[in-house]
Amino acid sequence: MAAVPKSRRSHREVRQRRAHWRAHMVPGVECPHCHELKLPHRVCPHCGYYNGMSVVAVEKE
Ligand SMILES: [Zn+2]
Repeated sequence: MAAVPKSRRSHREVRQRRAHWRAHMVPGVECPHCHELKLPHRVCPHCGYYNGMSVVAVEKE
């Protein structure tokens, strides 16, 4: 089988596939320290923790 598409994908097929893919790309992981949603591979904006240690000081009210 040749890896050549038999027919061009319709716009609907492409759009539906990318919409599905985009749903998976919603950034957000749970912070292991405060369990708030944060961006992956970023310092938590809620508690300032990253990789099990306080990296930045977060002002508390
Ligand atoms: Zn946190």
